[in-house]
Amino acid sequence: MRRMPSHSPILITDLDNTLYDWIDYFGPCFRAMVEELSSATGVDPDELHHQFQAVYSRHQAPEYRWAIRELEFLRSRQPAEVDRLVWSGFSAFVRSRREHLRLYPGVRDTLETLRARGFTVIGVSNAPIREVLRRVRCLRLQEQLDALVAWEGSHTGDRHLAHRTAPTGLALRTFTDAKQKPSTRPYREALRYFAPEDHGKVIVIGDSVANDLVPGRNIGAVTVWARYGSGYAPENYATVRRLSFWKPEKLKDVYDSGVMEPDEVIDDFTQLLHIAESHAPMSDANTRRRQWEAVPAGPA
Ligand SMILES: [Mg+2]
Repeated sequence: MRRMPSHSPILITDLDNTLYDWIDYFGPCFRAMVEELSSATGVDPDELHHQFQAVYSRHQAPEYRWAIRELEFLRSRQPAEVDRLVWSGFSAFVRSRREHLRLYPGVRDTLETLRARGFTVIGVSNAPIREVLRRVRCLRLQEQLDALVAWEGSHTGDRHLAHRTAPTGLALRTFTDAKQKPSTRPYREALRYFAPEDHGKVIVIGDSVANDLVPGRNIGAVTVWARYGSGYAPENYATVRRLSFWKPEKLKDVYDSGVMEPDEVIDDFTQLLHIAESHAPMSDANTRRRQWEAVPAGPA
């Protein structure tokens, strides 16, 4: 991680449906995986959906990595066949991912500009750390993030593996189930571990007002609603919705944008630059840079 100067402003950003469209990525990838498994085994796709839903529900995670292995119909199959199906299903998912996992327009350049202006950029996600890291790597986002704070996931080995395989320069921290957003804990930990003690203005951006911005306001940050995050295809939302173990009331809560008035609303990630400029002006950044350059180098 870069060592940041005093008064460095902080951007805390959600990832799914804020930096890229998770629903438009996961929907087609999941369907490709189901089609592959269905054509290899003759099991009806609807039945497979149902069995995946049961596994995700058991693990309280809509993208539990080992899901194929736990599908009901595979219990009666030979281990070699199970291994082959796990591999072919997962391969179908990955092939589709190459096509569908994309940053929203302008995300990379905007993050780069903000970092050049002295911002520390910290990603905070309720998704399992291993899956988040996988997406970060696929998108080469590690070059635009200073640190990542995410849910440890339901599989105990995942957190350790994530820490061992994190890209160089990207600092990681995980939190438990009980501390997921809208708890303020992930944000507080992000600041405590990855921001200078006397950091400047904090900006929080996310597509869920209830989950991302309410805790942002509670820590005194400028809150920015990524309204474009709901621009996914209805077909993909239907796939995810059908798999989700969340009850309709919970889904409604997460996407209820009426729970508070965000400080800023944007329809394009690049609009964040103006917001950053008005809340943490460049003149301050120049001052920061001078202070930064004035810090004498440590012992060699
Ligand atoms: Mg999100």
